[in-house]
Amino acid sequence: MHPHLWYPFTAAKTAPTPLKVKAGQGVWLELDNGQRILDCISSWWVNLHGHSHPAIAAAIAHQAQTLEHVIFAGFSHDPAEQLAEKLVQKLPGDLNRVFFSDNGSTAVEVALKMAYQYWHNQGQARSTFLAFEGAYHGDTFGAMAVGARSLFNAAFDTLMFAVDTVPFPATFQGDETVAEQERQSLAAIATQIDQAPHAYAALILEPLVQGAGGMRMCRPEFVAQVVQCCRERGVLVIFDEVMTGFGRTGDWFACLKAGVQPDLICLSKGLTGGFLPLSVTVATETIYQGFYSDEPQKTLYHGHSYTANPLGCAAALASWDLTTAAEPQFQALAALHHQGLARLRHHKGVTQCRVMGTIAAFNWVTDQPGYLNQWGQWIRQQAIAQGLLLRPLGNVLYVLPPYCITAAELSQVYDGIDKILAQAPDF
Ligand SMILES: *Cc1c(COP(=O)(O)O)cnc(C)c1O
Repeated sequence: MHPHLWYPFTAAKTAPTPLKVKAGQGVWLELDNGQRILDCISSWWVNLHGHSHPAIAAAIAHQAQTLEHVIFAGFSHDPAEQLAEKLVQKLPGDLNRVFFSDNGSTAVEVALKMAYQYWHNQGQARSTFLAFEGAYHGDTFGAMAVGARSLFNAAFDTLMFAVDTVPFPATFQGDETVAEQERQSLAAIATQIDQAPHAYAALILEPLVQGAGGMRMCRPEFVAQVVQCCRERGVLVIFDEVMTGFGRTGDWFACLKAGVQPDLICLSKGLTGGFLPLSVTVATETIYQGFYSDEPQKTLYHGHSYTANPLGCAAALASWDLTTAAEPQFQALAALHHQGLARLRHHKGVTQCRVMGTIAAFNWVTDQPGYLNQWGQWIRQQAIAQGLLLRPLGNVLYVLPPYCITAAELSQVYDGIDKILAQAPDF
């Protein structure tokens, strides 16, 4: 470990020394010992078009020589305006007010504050939120509060506001219980809201795929029914598409795939193609109008120093064009994932295979589920030896590659996983 660095999500005393990366190109990372590693997880799910993509690099360089940053209160600029226009055009319905911040957690904080204050501005004190079991929405306090209570946030338990939760109907290929699970989940939402019709400011959901919770997938119809259930009961809906945005689920956004419009949507990870930290919270016109007033106390008093950073916006605009060009990959990768998973199914530990657009996952049968299980740690180490960057979530192994990965490279990924699984000891 470097003597002056504190690494994220890292138990420094027991973790292996971080691998030093010298360069990245396409799906490949090059370590300083010369080894090449295929980035199967898009570096924590942010990279869409490969590392060091020249078009995004050039857009950032050009913007840096024009206007690197300016305060975004009282001032505006082209990159932010153009990006907002593109987002609004692509997002469904009247999701047309774009608020910038810096990462997924802040995008969620902003959505929670918008939903909460929207009611407050109308003289309604709605005291809490509805969320899904197993959810992950980020590491700041509000985002932690609406996420699942876990090892990650146990130390802060008493500081987090209380949230009511409902079950998430996670499904997989060959699952026969999904319809019943969905029915129970929808019934739980309806019951919770009906018991306290004015208690909930909003329901927050990772639509189609719960990411950090273990790449748990649900059906598009379920997402649509959740929105309908909340709308009928006057509860706002927040889609946390920080991970699912920009093609990940097979369409530009999970809300488009499910054919529904939330009241607020949070986007971040893929926004700049993985180059710079940037996020947006996009609100409907109705929400925006709830703040549009002569009374100063109705303003959303929230902002960050680097709000709408022009370099980030320029990267996002360049990434936008590349994403448009990569649209055929959203579906093509799904087909390749299905083939790849089919090759792994003969391992007796492989269970609950699932694919959603560009994301594939399965569970490994183990006696010790949970984030800290030995199998996941072992896979990480073995993967590096095979030239793969894999990072299981507990006993869940997933592949979430940049869209520029070739069929041959993805095949190589599944070959590597196949080899690793063949040597897996019992955990
Ligand atoms: C990663 C993630 C976040 C948090 O984003 P950060 O940029 O890490 O703060 C929030 N929600 C979801 C669904 C995520 O996957």
